[in-house]
Amino acid sequence: MKTAEIKRRYLAHFEANGHTVVPSAPLPAISDPNLLFVNAGMVQFVPYFLGQQTPPYRRAVSVQKCIRTPDIDEVGKTSRHGTFFQMNGNFSFGDYFKDGAIPLAWELATKSVESGGFGLDPERIWATVYLDDDEAYDIWRRTGVPDERIVRRGKKDNFWSMGIPGPCGPCSELYYDRGPAYGAEGGPEVDEDRYLEFWNLVFMQFERGPGTDKENFPILGELPAKNIDTGMGLERMASILQGVDNLYEIDEVRPILDRAAELTGKRYGAHSGHAANQSHPDDVRLRVIADHVRTALMLIGDGVTPSNEGRGYVLRRIMRRAIRSVRLLGWQERALPELLPVARDCMAPSYPELAADFDRISAYAYAEEDAFLATLRAGTTILDTAITETKSAGRPALSGDKAFQLHDTYGFPIDLTLEIAAEQGLTVDQEGFRRLMADQRARAKADAQARKTGHTDLSAYRAVLDAGGPVTFTGYTEVAREST
Ligand code: ATP
Ligand code: MG
Ligand code: MG
Ligand code: MG
Repeated sequence: MKTAEIKRRYLAHFEANGHTVVPSAPLPAISDPNLLFVNAGMVQFVPYFLGQQTPPYRRAVSVQKCIRTPDIDEVGKTSRHGTFFQMNGNFSFGDYFKDGAIPLAWELATKSVESGGFGLDPERIWATVYLDDDEAYDIWRRTGVPDERIVRRGKKDNFWSMGIPGPCGPCSELYYDRGPAYGAEGGPEVDEDRYLEFWNLVFMQFERGPGTDKENFPILGELPAKNIDTGMGLERMASILQGVDNLYEIDEVRPILDRAAELTGKRYGAHSGHAANQSHPDDVRLRVIADHVRTALMLIGDGVTPSNEGRGYVLRRIMRRAIRSVRLLGWQERALPELLPVARDCMAPSYPELAADFDRISAYAYAEEDAFLATLRAGTTILDTAITETKSAGRPALSGDKAFQLHDTYGFPIDLTLEIAAEQGLTVDQEGFRRLMADQRARAKADAQARKTGHTDLSAYRAVLDAGGPVTFTGYTEVAREST
């Protein structure tokens, strides 16, 4: 079943059950100062859950574009994490609760394909509930899941929040058993690759306070109403229904991966088994490329542009990681003009604005790649030499001096230096690097102060200006520089 069809069926099922279809919010989370990107379907509904606004409907359904940068290190290595993905969700604002949400999800998941459902084999579905949530446990049993496939799990997995202050609550998740080729039996507690989480039903009931610990944050109190917030990973359902090993092989992503394989001359899957832990490193890279190129497309499409801070910096890092991965696989030319149009063709059927706006999107993307390639050309030889010297001297870490010089003279970002050093089994003296950065900032400040108070003699510049006229500074377009 095509991804677009899964989306359509999800919306149709909940619309037929009294839900209003609400469009996706844009990826930048402008409503919440604590959040860079929308990371779940419920984000646009937060004021309704908190009781700050009255929703115009009691039931809603959406397909929300999401970004989860904390998952970036999982991309390509697990079968199920994208930096961009789409979350199908149904919501109840003080309307139905657990005994409504559980049967609604079960029905769609197990109803036959012919009658508009996803047709999953009920015997392969496992459910989890929060430790003491006997109510949810009993509803699952009544709905058709036997005791041996209902698992009680702790706060880390079964008490959901956005990761920041806001609504939260115990949750109950659905997992699909992909069979012995994907790992050990025993349920999601044993193997989250074989048992693939595809749907989370959150019983939004409490408000959480600040704190970064996933299992230990303050609960401020109860919400004004008992609500439902669910999230079904569209790509994960597509990987199940399309019978592929991971979400980089579904119809909306695979063509990008194939194009990257073609460019780099790699045969995807030649050395890998089905399970994520049997992947060849080249295959992991191809998946990273496919994921990151799609994410870049969606981010620029939603108005984010590469920069040195905030959302733009996230985009820049994702793009650079994709570009470097292509180079590491052996393609040294510009890669995005080859890959971005493929991503557009994958996504435009669902998001036609990407095709209409592609000139603008691609202009940003290609300029960013050119700037990055210039940076790489300038710094790579220096870094390679430094790495060889460090290794032959038997030292475990690249000096802070070197990292600073790369940053300062060649615009080589520290995270890139760290990444390349790590690939060579080295660390970097970050302490030393930071000290030199601080010194430089202090010097710049003193200089600015001196200029203000007129201590610096500027007459030398006057001579340059008289001789050659004003000069246009092109450093920022030719060499992308980082401010860390
Ligand atoms: P996991 O444990 O696999 O990381 P999660 O518990 O963090 O997933 P939830 O916060 O419960 O995920 O999000 C709801 C649903 O969204 C998940 O059940 C899954 O189907 C989907 N999902 C979550 N993170 C991703 C991701 N990085 N890429 C693709 N789909 C995702
Ligand atoms: Mg997760
Ligand atoms: Mg989980
Ligand atoms: Mg979950």
